[in-house]
Parts: sequence; structure tokens; C-alpha cells
Amino acid sequence: MFMSDEPKIVLSFLTKDESQIQLARDYWTGCDDGHGWKWAETVQSIAERYGMQKHYVASTVREIARAHDPDIRCSDCSAPREIESRAAIRPGFGEYVCRDCNAAKVQSKNQELLEQQMRLAENQGAVVAEVSSRVHLIEYTSIEYFDAVVLYAIMLASDEACEKGAFDDAYRLHLCPGENLTRELLNRLFSKNILQFSPDTPPAAIVLNEDERWRYKPYEVRWRISPDAGGATFPQIFAEIGNLIDLRSEHPSYEQCVADLWWSVGFNDALNFLNQEIATYRISDYRKGPKTDEALRYALERFSIPQVRRQIRSVVKNAAELSVSRDFNRRHALNTIPGNLISYVDRALSEHWTVHPVFSDWQNDEPVLTTVLFDRVLGSGLTGFRSTNGAMLGSPALQI
Ligand SMILES: [Zn+2]
Repeated sequence: MFMSDEPKIVLSFLTKDESQIQLARDYWTGCDDGHGWKWAETVQSIAERYGMQKHYVASTVREIARAHDPDIRCSDCSAPREIESRAAIRPGFGEYVCRDCNAAKVQSKNQELLEQQMRLAENQGAVVAEVSSRVHLIEYTSIEYFDAVVLYAIMLASDEACEKGAFDDAYRLHLCPGENLTRELLNRLFSKNILQFSPDTPPAAIVLNEDERWRYKPYEVRWRISPDAGGATFPQIFAEIGNLIDLRSEHPSYEQCVADLWWSVGFNDALNFLNQEIATYRISDYRKGPKTDEALRYALERFSIPQVRRQIRSVVKNAAELSVSRDFNRRHALNTIPGNLISYVDRALSEHWTVHPVFSDWQNDEPVLTTVLFDRVLGSGLTGFRSTNGAMLGSPALQI
């Protein structure tokens, strides 16, 4: 056993082989000479004497003997501090916890986390079970016109929704131009009990707040369409709401609903298109504010949705060019977007510019709600999409 002044090194041997014990002693011999710790011999010199490679010395020694500093104890089990190699001769800061106690702590922390997760999943599952067990019967022949259009679009987009009255992965429906509107519409139908949670909704779709309230992630919920009060099957419901939509101007809320739908789709489309165009130029630090909203509204009031796309494309391109020019800083360039969009709209009108619409494949790439609005609700199809502006339809009653 070898002891030095500061810190103490106490060796306990794991072998009886004297020559090995000597190797461990040689390795661990050193002292503090008042100017710091000094080892009696370099590892290089020990390695040469014992005919081994230098980088094996520390690990070989550790198989022969464990080195401890009895003056420093584990705060949990009081075991003396193990010095694993020469590099660890000085203790670290803070209280010492030995390797075993550390491992035990990590394990109990993991266990605690696991239990926490299980409790969370249980509580989330309880919300799903409670909400999905509520029974709502809907008279589909008399639902609001707006809701009929949205539900019809969902059923058109998803065979499963139309045939079995259930659907998940709402993101893939490509219902609206952007995710925000899809989320809002799902919320709307849920709040009216037209959509419900399916019992097999994954618990992770529920977010529990600390005050025992909860919210849900519309894209993760497995949705089911509420059954019909009159016992109609889902394909029959699909036909019924189709008939309701075909009433068009005979329906009392048709005109307001058309304005609401067009503005919802148009505003969502313009905003989504603006974000896409900005992303193309990798100018990601654009912050959309009230001025952007106002500029998009201004443009949509006067031009059709695909024409507004063209105008947005042009002003974003302009801003991107400005942002790389010498005299303009980036943020300033981005700030020109709303103002320039309004100026573009004014000049296009006063100078009678032809604004060529930008659109995707009507059947396959435009959002389902957009095509349902023009093909079924308005009956004007792609031609209507290219030419209808906000002023032609009146103001929306919905908050858009
Ligand atoms: Zn310990």
C-alpha cells in the first residue's frame, strides 16, 4: 500500500502477482512537492521498462489495482473516491458521487421519467375515451351551408371518410392551401359536434395543460363523422349534403357563405403562397404582421386568387433582389413587401396591366376546398377561379 501527502492514494490490489503489483505501484507513485503534483516516473518510462505500449499502461494498471483517495467520500454511500487514472488525480468540483451511486441515480431518474410518461399517456387516453364516448346525432339535411361544404370537401378528399365516416392524417387530405385553415375548419366541425374523436385516436393527440384543461392536435386526431339522426349511411350523408350544396342561391345563407368561403380560401392561399415564395429565396426572417394582412386583403379585394399569386411572386422577387444589393439591408428589403404589393395592385389597375394568373393543375394540385368552391358551390370552375375577386362577392362575415 502506498500513501503520499496530498491527495492520498490508497491502492487495493486485485491480484497477488508481485511483478504486476509493482507495475501498479510504479504507476501510482508521486507526491505534491509544493508546486503541484509530480509523478515519480513518466508513463513512457514505465512502459519501456515493462515492455508494453504506453497507451496500455493505465488500463492494465486498473486491472491490477484500484486507487482511492480516502479523504474524499461519496456523498451517498461514503465509499472513498476512486482515482481512475493519473489524469483524474485532482478531484472535480462539487460533491463526489461514486460510479455505482451515479448509475443508480440515472436509473431511478429514468424509471421516474418512464412512470411519468405512462401516467401522462393514461391521462391522455382517459380524455380520448371520454370525448369519443359522447354521442352526437346530426340532422345533415339542416346543417349550416358553410359546414356542409367543408364536410363535403373532406368526404370528397377521403374515400375512408365517405365510406366509413372516419379519417386520420388530415394533413394528407390537401383540403386547404395552408395548414392553418385546415386546422381551423376541423376545429369548427368539432365544436359543432359534426366531427368527433374516434376511440382509436392516439393519446399523443391530446395536450394536457397544468390547470387540468386539455387541447388537441387536429392533425393527429383520428376523426369520425357523427352519425345521422335519421340513420343515413355515410355515402347517403355525402349525397344529402351534396344536395344541400346544390340548392345554391335557394339556400338563405348561400351568398354570405360563398363570400366567407372565398375569403377564407383566398386569404389562406395568398399567405401560404407568400410564405412559399419567401422560402424559395431563403429569406426566412420575414415576420408577417398586420400590414401584410392588410396588403393581402387589399390585393384580394381587387384581383382573383391566382392573380394575387402573380403579384406576390413579383414583389417577393423584387425584395429578394433588394436584399442582396449593397445599399439595402435584408430586413428593410423584406419590409418593402406589403407596401409594394399595395402599390403593385394600384398600378396594375391604373395602368390596365394584364396580370397573368399563377395556378397548379386544377384537378390534382389545387386544394380540394378551392375546387369544391368553384366547381360545385359557384359552378364556375377554373374560369371562375381565374377571374373572381373579393369585391364581386362582398365582405366575409367570418373573422379572417
Ligand atoms: Zn456511492
